[in-house]
Amino acid sequence: MDKYDVIVVGAGISGLLAALTLSKHGKKVLVLEKSEHVGGNCNSYTIDGFQVDTGAHAITHLAVGPLKMLMDNYFDYMPVFEDYGNYHIRTETGFQKVPSNLRDFVTFDMLPKKDRLVLSQAITKALTLSTFGVDLSKQSAYDSLPKNLSKDTYDFVNAISHFLSGKSMKETSVHRMLTGSSFVRDSITQEQFESIVGSKDTPQHTESILQSILRYNLHTSLRSKLMGVLENPIKSTVPHPFVSIGRFAVSNQTAKAQGYPRKGLKAVLNSVLYSLPDTVEIHTNSEVKRILTNEGKVTGVETDQAYYADIVVYTGFAKNLPDVVEDLPRSYVDELGGIVQTKSLTVWLGLEKRIDEFNYVGSEIWFKDTPYWAMPISNYDSSLAPKEKQLAGFVFVLDENRSEGSEIKKAYDTIYHALPSIERHVEMQHEQITIPEKAAVTISGKFADIRTPIKNMYLAGTDTDNRSMGITRAAYSIIEMLGAVNEDGNLH
Ligand SMILES: Cc1cc2nc3c(=O)[nH]c(=O)nc-3n(C[C@H](O)[C@H](O)[C@H](O)COP(=O)(O)OP(=O)(O)OC[C@H]3O[C@@H](n4cnc5c(N)ncnc54)[C@H](O)[C@@H]3O)c2cc1C
Repeated sequence: MDKYDVIVVGAGISGLLAALTLSKHGKKVLVLEKSEHVGGNCNSYTIDGFQVDTGAHAITHLAVGPLKMLMDNYFDYMPVFEDYGNYHIRTETGFQKVPSNLRDFVTFDMLPKKDRLVLSQAITKALTLSTFGVDLSKQSAYDSLPKNLSKDTYDFVNAISHFLSGKSMKETSVHRMLTGSSFVRDSITQEQFESIVGSKDTPQHTESILQSILRYNLHTSLRSKLMGVLENPIKSTVPHPFVSIGRFAVSNQTAKAQGYPRKGLKAVLNSVLYSLPDTVEIHTNSEVKRILTNEGKVTGVETDQAYYADIVVYTGFAKNLPDVVEDLPRSYVDELGGIVQTKSLTVWLGLEKRIDEFNYVGSEIWFKDTPYWAMPISNYDSSLAPKEKQLAGFVFVLDENRSEGSEIKKAYDTIYHALPSIERHVEMQHEQITIPEKAAVTISGKFADIRTPIKNMYLAGTDTDNRSMGITRAAYSIIEMLGAVNEDGNLH
């Protein structure tokens, strides 16, 4: 009989981080992944000599954040992060940095002057309310704006909402807009981390952060920005009532604590795989069809064979849990049914040469009609494209009321409308349709608890935590999962 301390269902970044952390706490872990590959949405692969990622990615909260906490405490090998650069807005007539503070807003002439004033007042008001503890998670971004703004301004707010929550400004809360744009901080310090997880037997101490990680793992320009964040506690770690407003008025330093992993997104995956001890076994092509329980307690899982364990961590869609666990309480199943998801389309274009339009480091947003978020990723690392060529990914939120074919066509039409000169240079095109987050952060959308009605069965992944986004959110969920396992007396 195969018996483990822990079985992890799913080998996306959440499942692998769960396996890494639990194994470093001394557990014997089995990871079961239904597809042929590990990594889920956190991976890279090559198409005609261009290395694409599974969606365009910016890794956030690298100065002080959950992924950093996990890297500091559990990784044996760290990815190297390149400076993410800036966010830009492209229109038919111009290209400008996204305003991240009051001064930028005043000179951001892509929107009418009157609207800019109204928007900056609305942001200042929201920040003030949030600073004094007013809950803005039920108020939509749309409801917080006056109703006489121009179409461009609504399109702009709508595009930002779509990229922050996967849904429109009517379904995105003001709170989400503030945290997503880093004006309001959601983060985690080493002290908070240790109070949740307890200290490990052989902790890798973080005093070394500045000497080791900053020295070796971040590109020089990103390092100097982060040193600014770390050395200026008012803007980083110390809670201070006016930090958020300060960020908006002066400079949004935290927004800069972002990076792109050198060698692509798979570098994040590889550093987790490299750090796994021998006590972790991974089986691919192994779909978990049933989670086994006995008298309300988890006992194992079934693929084509049964595996037994004291603990199961499930990192597939929480929404799908009722398909694999029998007899869940009705109210719990209804709660999971309230989780909302969004699909995204990423179009990757390999260009036969470097073009002037992509002569920058960072990403760009097109906010008119069909918004996209695009990143020329070979500017971070030229090895992602063949010599002298360029690679860019364009992410769109899919309208699920339309066919995928028509959404793909609309995406290409938008790209070639926004960047008319690139079509003739395209030598590789590739599309991906994915669910970027297992739960969209909408006003009415639900998130699942880490604990389930089944004893010793836990959930982890982006549908169990509503803070931040993507891999950062997955890392938050792992820390919360470790906290729950610890509280239940199962960790140490
Ligand atoms: C277009 C796009 C853009 C993105 N941009 C960013 C970004 O800028 N920054 C960022 O941080 N993140 C970003 N993300 C999100 C990030 O990639 C994901 O949040 C993260 O990779 C999710 O990891 P996960 O392990 O929780 O889920 P997944 O990657 O979905 O992994 C779940 C795994 O579980 C497996 N599984 C499910 N059910 C079973 C079962 N029954 N048995 C066995 N295996 C099972 C699945 O096959 C899968 O491999 C983006 C994603 C996309 C698609």
